[in-house]
Amino acid sequence: MSIAILTDIHANREALEACLAHAEAAGLRDFAVLGDLVGYGADPAWCVERVETLQQEGAIVLLGNHDEAVYGTGEDMNALARAAIAWTRDRLTSGHVDYLRSLPLQAARGEALFVHANAYAPAAWDYVTGPLDAARSLSRTDKRLTFVGHLHVPALYHAGASGAAAHFAPEPGVDIPLLRQRRWLAVVGAVGQPRDGVPAANYAVFDPAQSSLRFVRVAYDVETAARKVREAGLPEALASRLERGR
Ligand code: ZN
Repeated sequence: MSIAILTDIHANREALEACLAHAEAAGLRDFAVLGDLVGYGADPAWCVERVETLQQEGAIVLLGNHDEAVYGTGEDMNALARAAIAWTRDRLTSGHVDYLRSLPLQAARGEALFVHANAYAPAAWDYVTGPLDAARSLSRTDKRLTFVGHLHVPALYHAGASGAAAHFAPEPGVDIPLLRQRRWLAVVGAVGQPRDGVPAANYAVFDPAQSSLRFVRVAYDVETAARKVREAGLPEALASRLERGR
């Protein structure tokens, strides 16, 4: 059964609803959420509750750095992220926070490892930004396939016997064969705060039987999401970033 992989929702209800509707229309029933349910956006409580429901229905749900910052210090974050986390804390109940605290850093299923940032130091939140980071991550798991989020920009890396990894920018909407003689690391783009210059939401569909991966872009109601960020009194940059997708 194919699995819909969603990550970096960032309290963007409109983007999450659009991705879930798109996935359900495609007959997808199995989900993995790779963390950052909250932070930046205007609907943290709704997004936490929606993802918790997905988990009760069988989804993998992981912890992201913004989720951790809600109950931790968030001291490594930039000023914009910290401001959003301070706002978010006031909108979550202790039940929501306990739920975030319960989330694991990684999960494995079949040939695949799911983790928010990377496999070599998942709790340190280093970004996979190039082939060296990808090779380092691949060297630290026995799993043939690794799925991460965190970067907000989709990317795909593959490695052969030497362990060296090569990068390519995946075309959305195309089934990409994850050839079985190679190992792969996919960076799934953000649902709720795209940063590749395209405002549409991202998710990905992994078919374990075919060993194929499709990156998906979903148009959503950016205008409403950005308006709610402004009305919430969150930093203006967080609203305009949604409109620009960068
Ligand atoms: Zn994120």
